[in-house]
Amino acid sequence: MRITDDRYCRDRLRFDLALRLIGHEARTHTIRTWTGLTEDRVRKLYRTYLAEHPGEYVARRRGKSPQRCSYFLRSPRVQQEAAVLAGLFCMVGIVSRESRLDPRALSVAQGELLCIAYEMYLALVAAPRISFEHAAFLVIALARGDELALRHCAECGALTIADCYTLRASACSACAGPARGPLSCAPALPGRRARDLPAAARGTPAPAQLGPIDRD
Ligand SMILES: [Zn+2]
Repeated sequence: MRITDDRYCRDRLRFDLALRLIGHEARTHTIRTWTGLTEDRVRKLYRTYLAEHPGEYVARRRGKSPQRCSYFLRSPRVQQEAAVLAGLFCMVGIVSRESRLDPRALSVAQGELLCIAYEMYLALVAAPRISFEHAAFLVIALARGDELALRHCAECGALTIADCYTLRASACSACAGPARGPLSCAPALPGRRARDLPAAARGTPAPAQLGPIDRD
């Protein structure tokens, strides 16, 4: 009886996570990777999700999940948002120095932590650019550690995402400034230089850019 109950609980947690991932428009492959469910089960859960959320549009994305780490370094804005996400991953404990997540053996608990971090990112960042798929890929890329690494900005100490192969010291997008990138990041306070801000505020978008997201 106990074994049956445990199994029921595990399955229930798996289904709940899958429904949460569907809500974030995760691809079937991603849902399978994080929940261990079969493709057929995921397909049925899509139907369940649509039945439980009438009128809500949820894209069912197909094809390959993101695989290019260069996406997170392609612009100061995306790099800054990736640093915010990475900070949230560290905060919830899915990315840590002590233990590396194994991409081949992901647990439901880790999937829940990923969702918590991504939902915090959506709540904190106005007009967020990083999709759930890319967020899930960022966790894997950081766990792999072969292309992307978490570094501290050489100038202000803020958490930043860096290319493992780069030889120059990392600088966050605020310290790198407009001269080093195609986009400039607005200073948090008018008339105040970004590097005057406390380091803790540097990995996050400027407060002027923060705001709740319209979620119907
Ligand atoms: Zn910096």
